[in-house]
Amino acid sequence: MPRSRRYLLRDATRALTPTGGFLKGFGFTLNPYVGCAFGEHGGCPYCYVRMLPVARAENGPWGSWVIAKRNLPTLLARELAELEATGRLDAATIFMSSATDPYQGIERRLGLTRAALEAFVTAPPRRILVQTRSPIVERDIDLIHALGDRAIVSLTIETDDDSVRRMLTPTSPSVARRILTARRLRAAGIFTQIAIAPMLPNRAERFADLLDSIADRVIVDTYFDGDGANGRRSRALEIGALYERSGFEGWFRPGAENDLMRALHARLGVGRVLFSREGFNAI
Ligand code: SF4
Repeated sequence: MPRSRRYLLRDATRALTPTGGFLKGFGFTLNPYVGCAFGEHGGCPYCYVRMLPVARAENGPWGSWVIAKRNLPTLLARELAELEATGRLDAATIFMSSATDPYQGIERRLGLTRAALEAFVTAPPRRILVQTRSPIVERDIDLIHALGDRAIVSLTIETDDDSVRRMLTPTSPSVARRILTARRLRAAGIFTQIAIAPMLPNRAERFADLLDSIADRVIVDTYFDGDGANGRRSRALEIGALYERSGFEGWFRPGAENDLMRALHARLGVGRVLFSREGFNAI
């Protein structure tokens, strides 16, 4: 954790944000934090959130600051009560989180994501999808399990090859550690989705074999289908140049996912493998 990162506590005005665009299959997004510690230098070089207005909430590069929404538990309890009072809670679908990782390191100390899950256990919506790359999610298996089939955990694993991960996203949790998290989630009876998002260079057959044993469902996403701008944001982030420097020529192109899709379909069956926007919006 760099010494220069700033953590700030602020009040938010809302907990649940109505969705649109890429995630419009969900009713709401919930981001306990603004900013993301995984976005620090060497974190997620492909993170297009750093190009969105939310990345200008504070001065300094994406990843160098994180704002915690300290009043989130109060806001969320109130908003869930409003949904319940108006007969909309049973249909509410919530994606947590779309512009941050709800289980970045500061969550161990602040517990805002855990508080949100506690609120959901008290007033359960139709669906809560937890999107993370962090093994810290294991801490909350008790609450996620209590939500039963209303909860999905979507765990990002972009490649089966840890040497690729070390080269492209060196400060993110190792592939082996994330696989262990997936196994623990599944062992607890939690619906576990693996989000290959964005797909990094991989060994297709080996990756498919691995995923068959740890995933209820797999979503494959690419730089060109998943950045919300047909690849424009990924190009602006100079991912192609990064790949060339890293020896991954040929992987940054539309269709690079075809071998993996074929292997996944053969190993897991078509029904357990979804693609990009359709996959992330599978309620
Ligand atoms: S974890 Fe997600 S939000 Fe955070 S830096 Fe990486 S891609 Fe961006």
